[in-house]
Amino acid sequence: MHDVVIVGAGPVGLFLACELGLAGCSVLVLEREPEPRTPWKADPLGMRGLSPASVEAFYRRGMLDPLLKASGADDRPDPEEVAPPRGAGHFAGMMLDPADVDVAALPFRLPSPAAEGVMTNLEAVESVLSERASLLGVEVRRGVTVSALVQEDESVVVRAGEQEYAARWVVGCDGGRSAVRKLAGFGFVGTEPQFTGYVALVTVADPGKLRPGFNLTPTGMYLRTPAPGYVGMLEFDGGAFDRSQQPTREHLQAVLRRVSGTDVTLSDVQLASSFTDRAMQTTTYRQGRVLLAGDAAHIHSPLGAQGLNLGIGDALNLGWKLAATVHGHAPDGLLDTYTRERHPLGAQALDWTRAQAAVMRPDPHAQAIQAVIRDLIGTRDGTTYVFGRTSGSSIRHDLGSEQPLVGRNAPELRLEDGTRLGDLMRDGRGVALDFTGDGRLRGPAMVWEGRMRYAAGPARDDLGLGAVLVRPDGVVAWAGDRDPDREAFERAAARWFGGPAV
Ligand SMILES: Cc1cc2nc3c(=O)[nH]c(=O)nc-3n(C[C@H](O)[C@H](O)[C@H](O)COP(=O)(O)OP(=O)(O)OC[C@H]3O[C@@H](n4cnc5c(N)ncnc54)[C@H](O)[C@@H]3O)c2cc1C
Repeated sequence: MHDVVIVGAGPVGLFLACELGLAGCSVLVLEREPEPRTPWKADPLGMRGLSPASVEAFYRRGMLDPLLKASGADDRPDPEEVAPPRGAGHFAGMMLDPADVDVAALPFRLPSPAAEGVMTNLEAVESVLSERASLLGVEVRRGVTVSALVQEDESVVVRAGEQEYAARWVVGCDGGRSAVRKLAGFGFVGTEPQFTGYVALVTVADPGKLRPGFNLTPTGMYLRTPAPGYVGMLEFDGGAFDRSQQPTREHLQAVLRRVSGTDVTLSDVQLASSFTDRAMQTTTYRQGRVLLAGDAAHIHSPLGAQGLNLGIGDALNLGWKLAATVHGHAPDGLLDTYTRERHPLGAQALDWTRAQAAVMRPDPHAQAIQAVIRDLIGTRDGTTYVFGRTSGSSIRHDLGSEQPLVGRNAPELRLEDGTRLGDLMRDGRGVALDFTGDGRLRGPAMVWEGRMRYAAGPARDDLGLGAVLVRPDGVVAWAGDRDPDREAFERAAARWFGGPAV
């Protein structure tokens, strides 16, 4: 009997496994694929954009260097400066100019070694997480396809072939076609597709006929990146392409000709797959002892590079809450705050992709809106707004507080002695930062010592605050002014960390 069985060793399942392993839970990960590597996970097909918020999650667990190394990203931001981002992404294929991002307008931004997004690939992300999971004592069993699930009062049993695995909790991180979601009877609702998208590795006989970058056309979109042979495209066919079939060379060429308005020729197709903009989300992320995270809980088109970032956010939010529940010190209702906090953010991400699909549609109304949006994102405010949404900077969990920092990902606060918040978060506990001269929160913080770290001293930039309580997932649970109220701190600590630990 494990504390937690995770179904799926994709990036989200592995991130969650690391969080639970770090918190001392026994974790078994069951994965269908016998081998971790496939061409779909390596560049260019496995290429994925990690947002600054996701990169920060790796940083706060001591995985920034391995991530950058595995991703071949050695051009790091200056950890002493708040600089404009190097890349700012796009909205519906309309590129943002990073120089137009007004960093001063992004909420609570402080210099951080993890201020930039990283262009990586699934293989790099999964290898960094697998290595860490193994160091933390997590077992990953491959070639195991979960096909049945039974919930009992105190446990859940999943079955794969003749084998049964019992755990106190099961988390489905088994992707967009999640078996766990179906077996546990989660409601899954949303909108049907308008387009079919394709990614492929091809040989183009006459590449000069295609323009580089994102190309919005009257019939859809095509994308050529510097990666040789990589083509992405989407066509507004109502999602009609039968995705149980492999797209053939003839089919891909016909679509590319239609969306590019050229007579381009594909002489060969090495690999290809399709996706749609079907946007669905489960109505809750928990049914009894079964939880969902990542694509298992929400699917949408890749427009705007959201899915992986959303899934990592789910895993980070769920990990410490489930661990506290396993260890029996979670305050009442803590686990249910997972759905309460993450479901609205999932819904926002779905809408973000729907909005992009809507303005890319090949009809005059959509194209009129597209022109308006293009004008808006050509402004500094417009660029900053879109960047705030895609970078994760504007994310705020609703924790019921008016204090503007509460519910946000904590900025990289730093003490004058150079200690950074990121240094304090590595062991997965919460962090109480006390900037008061009299170390006012030392006593109460020590009461929760096993669950939070305490660090005191003057801050390099205190953002007008006297103390801050950060949850293990990096979310600000409470913030006090320069004369912080000890009792308010204690209430916040009890709300998130349960009864005093000593
Ligand atoms: C073309 C494309 C580009 C994208 N670009 C980006 C991007 O730039 N940024 C971004 O944030 N997101 C992007 N995404 C989305 C991102 O790839 C996904 O959201 C992310 O991979 C989801 O991770 P996951 O761990 O939830 O699921 P998955 O990666 O799907 O992993 C699920 C795992 O579960 C296993 N599994 C499935 N069923 C079972 C079973 N029954 N038993 C055991 N194991 C099982 C699978 O084998 C798999 O290993 C993109 C997606 C596509 C298609």
